[in-house]
Amino acid sequence: MEALIPVINKLQDVFNTVGADVIQLPQIVVVGTQSSGKSSVLESLVGRDLLPRGTGIVTRRPLILQLVHVSADDHRKTTDENELDSWKNPRLLSKGVDASEWGKFLHTKNKIYTDFDEIRQEIENETERISGNNKGISSEPIHLKIFSPNVVNLTLVDLPGMTKVPVGDQPKDIELQIRELIIRYISNPNSIILAVTAANTDMATSEALKIARESDPDGRRTLAVITKLDLMDAGTDAMDVLLGRVIPVKLGIIGVVNRSQLDINNKKIVADSIRDEYAFLQKKYPSLANRNGTKYLARTLNRLLMHHIRDCLPELKTRINVLAAQYQSLLNSYGEPVEDQSSTLLQLITKFATEYCNTIEGTAKYIETSELCGGARICYIFHETFGRTLESVDPLGGLTTIDILTAIRNATGPRPALFVPEVSFELLVKRQVKRLEEPSLRCVELVHEEMQRIIQHCSNYSTQELLRFPKLHDAIVEVVTCLLRKRLPVTNEMVHNLVAIELAYINTKHPDFADACGVMNNNIEEQRRNKLARDFPPPAASREKPVPVARKLSAREQRDCEVIERLIKSYFLIVRKNIQDSVPKAVMHFLVNHVKDTLQSELVGQLYKSLLLDDLLTESEDMAQRRKEAADMLKALQRASQIIAEIRETHLW
Ligand code: GDP
Ligand code: MG
Repeated sequence: MEALIPVINKLQDVFNTVGADVIQLPQIVVVGTQSSGKSSVLESLVGRDLLPRGTGIVTRRPLILQLVHVSADDHRKTTDENELDSWKNPRLLSKGVDASEWGKFLHTKNKIYTDFDEIRQEIENETERISGNNKGISSEPIHLKIFSPNVVNLTLVDLPGMTKVPVGDQPKDIELQIRELIIRYISNPNSIILAVTAANTDMATSEALKIARESDPDGRRTLAVITKLDLMDAGTDAMDVLLGRVIPVKLGIIGVVNRSQLDINNKKIVADSIRDEYAFLQKKYPSLANRNGTKYLARTLNRLLMHHIRDCLPELKTRINVLAAQYQSLLNSYGEPVEDQSSTLLQLITKFATEYCNTIEGTAKYIETSELCGGARICYIFHETFGRTLESVDPLGGLTTIDILTAIRNATGPRPALFVPEVSFELLVKRQVKRLEEPSLRCVELVHEEMQRIIQHCSNYSTQELLRFPKLHDAIVEVVTCLLRKRLPVTNEMVHNLVAIELAYINTKHPDFADACGVMNNNIEEQRRNKLARDFPPPAASREKPVPVARKLSAREQRDCEVIERLIKSYFLIVRKNIQDSVPKAVMHFLVNHVKDTLQSELVGQLYKSLLLDDLLTESEDMAQRRKEAADMLKALQRASQIIAEIRETHLW
């Protein structure tokens, strides 16, 4: 199995670095009748004495033997923390055991076994614990892990042998139970079946091959192993069997000689056994010697595993390529490490400023689709939000008949007036016009808020590189926010003035107003209109209901009020139109355009200083780390892809 180690190790490295799932090597499952030599075969494959073997039913529970490769020079490479702790176990260290190989059972938790005799003893104990000591069997597996530099990551399954007649505590249906147990393991398509038959039994009646065929009718994963070649009757040999003349087996029939019971009793070591096996084969089957024996069996298994790996490689390669592409684009999005600081800074500032202006102009690269943003939103604020608010301002809102009457009377002083005094109109109309200031200032505020929002929009979407440099990002936000804040009072002042200008001079000669003015001087016309108004009262206007007047108004008072109301309304509409037009212009000029025009120079002026370079261009730790990780991963993936290519070229035969 050693030829596989470097390949698997390399692949393992690949998987470790790229965090992909390890290729699952097939499980190797031995099946055969009782005492045919299954445990012995597995053991010689592993190359260590660790399994209980013997006559009668010895293996009475499935043993799932997981081989785990650990690097020879670093025993502590095992990933499990507990394992590491056990390594430092003073008992082990003081005993000075050479612990380059060790075992662990699932059922004994973290106990480390460095003595393989102890492992075998524990298998026996554990078998008895569940299956009793009188030949009973159990389907509950024993899990054993062997850590060693001399193995590949592979799982071997030792199973109880097939039997016919119940003995000891065995139930009546022992035959069926064992069959079911075996089928359960060999029906797994990812298993290789070693169908073990002893040479001193009749191959034609091999139960092992029979059961293997049930799960693997095409024989694509069944390998026949003939044991006990040394125990054949004098005058017979296994030539016909080994040549496949009795039963052909697609993947091959391999004869082996394991250690006899006497060898086991004498504690013959595996290496000696393999040497003797070789000598035996050379003597008895010279023509077949190089196609039989434990070593050849191992090589054959090796090849089967290799084929399996080869079958997995294309998919693995695709997966690695996809991952590599993903990491490449991730890495690109992180940008290159900064080389020329000052040009990078200038570039980022310019890019931000450009994006900011573009967002206002509506020419940005990244156009928001979920909501209005930038210039479009400013337009919306001007024409929808602000426009509508102004239109909803009632020209006579908050004005009662009493207010009007009182104003008229106050304006005439001690003399009763002949005409409606102009002063009262001015007084009242100013009061109404003043009401336009509040929504106008609110409009400035909304635009200011939107300008602030654009900063976020730009750094989130358009200038993603900025996210790499949190300090620069903050500094830019600060400068723009400051600039906006500086422009706010100037703009407010202007808007305030726009209303103040309107208040400063009530132009009763305004051409649009002249018409309404005429009524004041034309009483006949006025009376006619009054009559009209009385006969056809105007639909209930949106103005607030006048507070009920305590006393009944005289006809004169009534008329005066109506005149004033009409004049106010007419003049107010003129002013409102002005404001609706001039406020957006003022906001554009004093806030939006100003910021747009000075943004770049403001940013450069405040940030483009050699003293600040280092500080502003410090990448977030996170980012440096992420770029490094992505770069490492990409490198690992590229190496992985190279390793796979090499494996495909050189190791497959
Ligand atoms: P299992 O029941 O199929 O697991 O068989 P074991 O591996 O326990 O072997 C049963 C007995 O056969 C043991 O005493 C082994 O020593 C013996 N044995 C197995 N293989 C060979 C072999 O190739 N030659 C000889 N002489 N004895 C063998
Ligand atoms: Mg056995």
